[in-house]
Amino acid sequence: MEATEHKSSVNFIEQIIDSHNESGRFQKRVHTRFPPEPNGYLHIGHAKSICLNFGLAQKYNGKCNLRFDDTNPATEDVEYVDSIRNDVRWLGFEWDGEFFASDYFDQLYEWAEQLIRKGKAYVDDQTAEEIAATRGTPTVPGKESPFRNRSVEENLDLFRRMKAGEFDEGSKVLRAKIDMSSPNMHMRDPVLYRIKKAHHHRTGDRWCIYPMYDFAHGLSDSIEGITHSICTLEFEVHRPLYDWLIDELGIYHPQQIEFARLNLAYTVMSKRKLLELVEGKYVSGWDDPRLPTISGLRRRGYTPAAIRHFADKIGVAKRDNIIDVALLEFCIREDLNKTAPRTMVVLRPLKVVITNYPEGQTEMLSAVVNPEMPEMGSRSVPFGREIYIEQDDFMENPPKGYFRLTPGGEVRLKYAYIIQCQEVVKDENGNVTELRCIYFPESKSGSDTSGKKVKGTLHWVAAHDAAEAEVRLYDRLFTIPDLSEIPEGQDWKDFINPKSLEVVSHAKIEKSLLQAESGSLWQFERLGYFCTDPDTTPQKPVFNRTVTLKDTWAKAAH
Ligand code: ATP
Ligand code: MG
Repeated sequence: MEATEHKSSVNFIEQIIDSHNESGRFQKRVHTRFPPEPNGYLHIGHAKSICLNFGLAQKYNGKCNLRFDDTNPATEDVEYVDSIRNDVRWLGFEWDGEFFASDYFDQLYEWAEQLIRKGKAYVDDQTAEEIAATRGTPTVPGKESPFRNRSVEENLDLFRRMKAGEFDEGSKVLRAKIDMSSPNMHMRDPVLYRIKKAHHHRTGDRWCIYPMYDFAHGLSDSIEGITHSICTLEFEVHRPLYDWLIDELGIYHPQQIEFARLNLAYTVMSKRKLLELVEGKYVSGWDDPRLPTISGLRRRGYTPAAIRHFADKIGVAKRDNIIDVALLEFCIREDLNKTAPRTMVVLRPLKVVITNYPEGQTEMLSAVVNPEMPEMGSRSVPFGREIYIEQDDFMENPPKGYFRLTPGGEVRLKYAYIIQCQEVVKDENGNVTELRCIYFPESKSGSDTSGKKVKGTLHWVAAHDAAEAEVRLYDRLFTIPDLSEIPEGQDWKDFINPKSLEVVSHAKIEKSLLQAESGSLWQFERLGYFCTDPDTTPQKPVFNRTVTLKDTWAKAAH
């Protein structure tokens, strides 16, 4: 893992754009695009790309398109198209043009014929295996196909018949005629079109040949007048092909620019792997709060502002690296600290009876909604003779330095009084079931004249005003930070963290929290930030822990 690169005021992509603006290459236009393939839900890596592309358009007063790269009918679906639109908007961006690569199928086909007529493309009858076997290696040149020198007429005829559906899948492809001994493997007569007799979610059964990514992508950029086509580093070696196709066709030429993809520790980011987790029911769905999908992060309680801040903080790098989740968590803490109202929730309740508090009496105590935001005002917290505290806020035989409640010990109940533990009630198995305490009426928060000094302050919930809730606590989805290090032959799914979800079924909440809207965000005092889950019912609210208050992992590592 490596530290995030310091963000200079102008990153390397902006430097390239600035130089184009100076030279006048694009008449000072900036037009980017975000080009997802609709074959899955977007993840935090896509969020990085979205923030980058839309962010550049905003910064340079330009435009950004949303383009669905739908050239592979087998894996694509309208469900994904809808979720992608939704996620981009949720992140706070609105696209200028919305396009589908499939809108360009006619134009792309025309261009393929144009390449054939120029003698720059040919129909190859070799199988995929034969093509792979004759491609050579980076140090050994490939072998030219026996079909490479077909005449233009024959190629045109075959290609048209491919389009007409006369041939079986896999029996023919269209290849660019470039250089079988190029040091760049992508230039060794790459495949441009393949036969696929599949139903396409937009074009239906109109086509049975589909363009390859490399053919469709750059030409789509050109059609849309994109100026800067930003992609991840693995496409750097595709750039010569991107340029070759555009130059051979003599069409408008965008600039491809590569940056390092975002990798996050302890998770997976490939849509194929995410799909496997969803379909194999390792998680509850694409929006499982443990997933790095945008829908998962949203359900977990992440805000668009926190994700945009994160994308900004990691900057754009030219080298691949793995970003620590702690940085993402830092961004959401920073946001929620300022915006989330505070409330008190007890996850694992232990009853405390305050024996000198009059039976039947209750009172309302005053608490601030958010100490970071005085303008959010104050709220009333009910208090009474019986309350709940956390089981682990009491220890019968405490180690040194334990400042919470102990037999005979004193602590402050937040917003309320100082109490002293006088009696520990146990069941027949010796488990502590109840504490009997006294309170000091003159120690009331805000008007404390008791003169007492206590080191611990506990959160609590009044029994007479308590409701039950389910609280879901999450941990890293995987046990190792870098899944690319899994040895050959081992299943990456064996590294799923068996403790990534802990369900607390009988937490105590203040009744007022029953009104919390789905998706609302809270700080449960001392426990972390939490978000109301859509599984909430009027009888039983469900909360997800977004993040703890402090980085517990950093502590554990010391
Ligand atoms: P995956 O491998 O997860 O399926 P992909 O690159 O195939 O990702 P696309 O839908 O093709 O997914 O990606 C759309 C855009 O998002 C592309 O421009 C791609 O470069 C960018 N992108 C995808 N993953 C990341 C990432 N981890 N970091 C930054 N950008 C990414
Ligand atoms: Mg892709």
